Amino acid sequence: MAGFIVAIDQGTTSTRAIVFDETYRVRGVGQQEFQQHFPRSGWVEHDPEEIWTSTVQTVRTALAEALISASDVAAIGITNQRETAVVWDRDTGKPIHNAVVWQDRRTAETCRRLLDDGLEALLIEKTGLLVDPYFSGTKVAWILDHVEGARARAEAGRLAFGTIDSFLLWRLTGGRVHACDATNAARTQLYDIGTGAWDDELCRLIKVPMAVLPEVRDCDADFGTTDPSLFGAAIPILGVAGDQHAAVIGQACFRPGMVKSTYGTGCFALINTGETRVASRSRLLTTLAYRLSGKTTYALEGSIFVAGAAVQWLRDGLGLVSRADETGPLAAEADEAQDVVMVPAFTGLGAPWWDPDARGAIFGLTRRTGPKEMARAALEAVCFQTHDLLSAMNRDWEGGEPTVLRVDGGMVASDWTMQRLADLLDAPVDRPVVLETTALGAAWLAGHKAGVWPDQEGFAGSWRRESRFEPAMPAVERGRRLTLWSDAVRRTLTRN
Ligand code: ADP
Repeated sequence: MAGFIVAIDQGTTSTRAIVFDETYRVRGVGQQEFQQHFPRSGWVEHDPEEIWTSTVQTVRTALAEALISASDVAAIGITNQRETAVVWDRDTGKPIHNAVVWQDRRTAETCRRLLDDGLEALLIEKTGLLVDPYFSGTKVAWILDHVEGARARAEAGRLAFGTIDSFLLWRLTGGRVHACDATNAARTQLYDIGTGAWDDELCRLIKVPMAVLPEVRDCDADFGTTDPSLFGAAIPILGVAGDQHAAVIGQACFRPGMVKSTYGTGCFALINTGETRVASRSRLLTTLAYRLSGKTTYALEGSIFVAGAAVQWLRDGLGLVSRADETGPLAAEADEAQDVVMVPAFTGLGAPWWDPDARGAIFGLTRRTGPKEMARAALEAVCFQTHDLLSAMNRDWEGGEPTVLRVDGGMVASDWTMQRLADLLDAPVDRPVVLETTALGAAWLAGHKAGVWPDQEGFAGSWRRESRFEPAMPAVERGRRLTLWSDAVRRTLTRN
């Protein structure tokens, strides 16, 4: 019986495939980490072939674990790390360069030129995005300019560009579909979020030939079917959304004013602003929450580049812990008298500062500082940054103050971090039962389209809270810590 839904969650550090049954229960999971390439300071790449093989293998593993076959699957939904750019040859399907990952800063100079040319206002007006190397457009131009002959081939229509969703769609459909969904398109800086179309002028300014661009579809569109040779039967692909947008959906943040924050490698907070496209006064991004059946819902977004990545650094860079989940218990034992503050600007600072040249810093070290204080500083930095994002949202959003925050992502497994988050925000933090929110969002898109799952309202009714973290820190202490943080950020910024 074809009632199962598969979500492919192609993240920054790992690829996951999850089989959900009709009651939203997880029946099978496949997961594979893949290699991060750091060719130079501030550069981050992935091998698209590794992304592809991990996708196929994790889907096979998830199906096997669920004891089902491809013909039992009603639909696939895809969610992906956003902004990461892949360029491939239309004839061979082979990428011409490694994927340039969203965290990569190599186009900082291009962005400075766009700023110097006074183009920021125009770019914000059309795309809702600030000028920063974070977005895909300048990364695509970089690839075309650094791979021999690529620009000419691109102009001749022989190369294709895609965000990861688009690359996977191409491969999954055996090269029959070159498409992406509107949320991924909205992160390229080549797409006008008002008209809902690729923009000629933006493509000219950023130097991306329109011939490489995928077709943009709704998040709940028909994206073709998988090549039967991959999983044993053709499966319809009926949902696609960038990871943060899928998380908004998975957290059922369907009403204006609802906020979710996802803590994976980076941290991304989005507030649903409904049909209103809110222009930020605080350097947040204006973006799509999602586009369903032709109807666009907007969001304001705050993006932090390093959240769980700081935990990874404690583990892999410093060797202070051997597992990510050791950091919370370690932080709980930190010396309260030491004010060690870490600004994890490993790849620059995102919202609301947008300083691509900033690099990480640690303040307040003493002879007594050890792994406990370092762990606390890394986890607390994520909370401080969320505080800054939500303050900016409160300034920008006039629909009333958001009162609770729905959280998800790998890092929210840490109780210590969630409690500290509630303390520093001075607001409750809600952790859902289903922590695979991003995958669930992608799955819902596909499952609803396939007729297996109910509409938005019905789905929202099934959202369940696992626990609520209530703020408990005295106001004086909270204020003192926030001051330490803003002081540390001020000293880390390269421009004031
Ligand atoms: P992504 O989708 O970006 O690959 P995930 O949502 O899988 O990320 O989250 C993984 C991140 O969460 C990693 O950076 C990891 O270090 C961090 N993490 C996972 N578990 C914990 C934990 N218990 N405490 C702190 N950090 C954690």
